[in-house]
Amino acid sequence: MRSKEDSNRKKEQNMDQKQKKLTVDQENCIGCGTCIALCPDVFAFNKDGKSYVKDQEACENCDCQSAIDSCPVGVIHWDDKTKKEQNGQPQ
Ligand code: SF4
Repeated sequence: MRSKEDSNRKKEQNMDQKQKKLTVDQENCIGCGTCIALCPDVFAFNKDGKSYVKDQEACENCDCQSAIDSCPVGVIHWDDKTKKEQNGQPQ
């Protein structure tokens, strides 16, 4: 059972994540699939076998931090939404 403190921490984390954009540095993604296995609603493979963020909003239903922490090459990041950057969606 979750404590009130844990619940508040999760709410704060979700609010913080809404301010940021989840990105994958595809140049360095090795296509291992770990992020997709952990957060299949959020990540998917593109046609080149690299991970991309298909639905950032879905991260409220899982724990994207696990995917970020588990990426063997550390290429998943939270970026400031104000930055202009590709999010690696298929073209
Ligand atoms: S866990 Fe990292 S290296 Fe593996 S597919 Fe996802 S982004 Fe790519």
